[in-house]
Amino acid sequence: MPPATPSTAATPATPARDELEENRRRQLIEVTIDSLAEVGYVGSTLAQIASRAGVSPGLVAHYFADKDGLLAASFRTLARRVGARVRARLAQAATPRGRIQAVIDANLAPEEFDQRTGSAWLAFWGQVLHAEGLKRVQKVYQVRTLSNLRHALKRLVPAHEAHSLAAMIAAMIDGVWLRAALSNWQEADSEGARALLTAFVDGRLREYARPDPASATSTGAGAPARAAVTTITSINPATGATLAQIAVDGPAQVDAAVGRALEAQRSWAAMTGAARARVLRQAADLLRARNRELAELETRDTGKPIQETSAVDVASGADCLEYFAGLAASLAGEHLDLGPGAFGYTRREPLGVVAGIGAWNYPLQIACWKAAPALACGNAMLFKPAELTPLSAIALGDVFQQAGLPDGVFQVVQGYADTGRLLTRHPQIRKVSLTGEVGTGRAVMADAAATLKHVTLELGGKSPLIVFDDASLDNAVGGALLANFYSAGEVCSNGTRVFVQRRIKAEFTQRLTARAAAMRVGDPMDPATQVGALISEAHLDKVLGYIARGRAEGAQLLVGGYRVTTGDLANGLFVAPTVFDGCHDDMAIAREEIFGPVLTLLTFDDEEEVIARANATEFGLAAGVFTNDLTRAHRVIARLQAGTCWINHYNVTPVELPFGGVKMSGLGRENGRAAIEHYSQLKSVYVAMGDVDAPY
Ligand code: NDP
Repeated sequence: MPPATPSTAATPATPARDELEENRRRQLIEVTIDSLAEVGYVGSTLAQIASRAGVSPGLVAHYFADKDGLLAASFRTLARRVGARVRARLAQAATPRGRIQAVIDANLAPEEFDQRTGSAWLAFWGQVLHAEGLKRVQKVYQVRTLSNLRHALKRLVPAHEAHSLAAMIAAMIDGVWLRAALSNWQEADSEGARALLTAFVDGRLREYARPDPASATSTGAGAPARAAVTTITSINPATGATLAQIAVDGPAQVDAAVGRALEAQRSWAAMTGAARARVLRQAADLLRARNRELAELETRDTGKPIQETSAVDVASGADCLEYFAGLAASLAGEHLDLGPGAFGYTRREPLGVVAGIGAWNYPLQIACWKAAPALACGNAMLFKPAELTPLSAIALGDVFQQAGLPDGVFQVVQGYADTGRLLTRHPQIRKVSLTGEVGTGRAVMADAAATLKHVTLELGGKSPLIVFDDASLDNAVGGALLANFYSAGEVCSNGTRVFVQRRIKAEFTQRLTARAAAMRVGDPMDPATQVGALISEAHLDKVLGYIARGRAEGAQLLVGGYRVTTGDLANGLFVAPTVFDGCHDDMAIAREEIFGPVLTLLTFDDEEEVIARANATEFGLAAGVFTNDLTRAHRVIARLQAGTCWINHYNVTPVELPFGGVKMSGLGRENGRAAIEHYSQLKSVYVAMGDVDAPY
């Protein structure tokens, strides 16, 4: 099958008149940049710019409404130019260190240091605090720079240091640039500036390469000094709009929260299970009552379509609270008969104060999956959402409070990995449950080891979905679509390696590509949208990087494979559902977790072969089998190395079934009765009913 070309929706035909208007807009923006460079912000009036451009002020107003509109559009143009340069260099960078250099080189390129561009930038920066439109552009630019740097740094330095080092590099880029501007471009030396930054980064990376003797045992004493990052800016990835600024919690706030939790947990645990259940049930009802509002919040924070968040994210959180409310009153130990003179019993007790650390793909659901069993068992929980999606956890705290949960039993702490590490290393926190990447899982487990915390790890995957030639084809295609494109592919359990038996491969591929090509990418707030935005610029680059790698490695692109930038989507981070055929097991797209809408098709001949290939991965989160031969279904499932499996379906996760992975995909289970084991501990009690027979 020939590679499908992007749909017309992605590349609209541009009528000549639109092109004319676009050229006129561009010309006015260039004149504005000239004007700013020469006469500054105050001198650049609408009339003055119109006269420079040789048009009437009315025409300028027609395109940009007013001076603020014109200046915001010009600033956006400058920011986009740097953004495009960064993206182009990132696409060529082969290593994380190369990606850091790409950000430095693009930001400090000679073009940025020419007097015209630099002076225009300076004029904008001077006004950012006073003009809402400029503020937004500046924030998006800044967040993207930080996120690109963090993403690369996470592979080079401990995850918890990536944020502060990224902030330092970004601050230095701004610093050298500002110095050049203030010297009236006398000291503008692009090459020197880049050399300075390069030496700084290399020096810091060398430091991190040396073992840090303090890291295994202390809460950070002896760690390199780091810049204090005090706020998180929450961005809507579909539009680039800023949603909120959130204060980051540091050691003092975390200590105070732990103190409150310790106190609150004692009385919460002393309540009967039935009383705790009432609070959890009430919270479930409140979540359902606020479904629309919370779904919209989640959609804005994550970029996921409202048709998903309003049907799944809030509802599955509520289901989970309700389910564990149902178990709370029946938590029990056992009675053991030890003969006529004694008996024993076990008490199921809470662990104490526990921590939950969440990923950004299902923020509210993850918070509920961790909080519900923890609270049902009588623990108090401190929950840290991912810094990219800090909002719905706050709403959940609000819901708990309204439901009557005593103060301090559930608290949200906000921050980057540094804040997460304060939790995993805190001596009074007894357990940590993380949802995140494998590397983060390792770091968390190592940190938790110092205080011997219980650990639950829900990590990444590269799961197989196997379609045998007797399967119902439409069901299998539906399963493969659910397994790859739900939440734009940002689902840990996704079945991204789709193995199809040779006899039905052509027919399966044809039906799959037709349905994937018809999926609707769009504004996540539109109920008709099926594929929303990816979470961040850095993640978008990662996904597009894998698509480029797939093509370079010889995979055949059947559908998608491009960023969607039609109309308003240009401001967001959208990638079309992508299907690759002709894949081999050793290609990067078939081995590594992409966490985006990218499906790889693989062909197999027999059962034995496909089981071996499906298991040939370090991951073991999930697996699926489509077949109408039930004997084979159970036989194959029994041999797949995966913690969560589906027969003739994919990615459904009812709360009754435990969820979790094996191998590098994690430890422990969430949901189901199994989760109780991970949030409680047993106390064994021996009771003597006779005299003590001491031989002394
Ligand atoms: P990350 O591992 O980057 O982050 C997860 C959370 O851990 C974030 O809150 C992060 O903070 C925090 N964190 C990072 N480093 C540390 C540290 N050293 N100590 C304590 N906390 C830390 O994952 P993503 O948010 O990028 O999520 C995507 C990953 O999550 C994918 O691999 C996906 O497969 C996996 N996932 C697994 C699921 C499962 O159930 N198995 C479900 C959903 C996702 P910050 O946000 O500041 O970086």
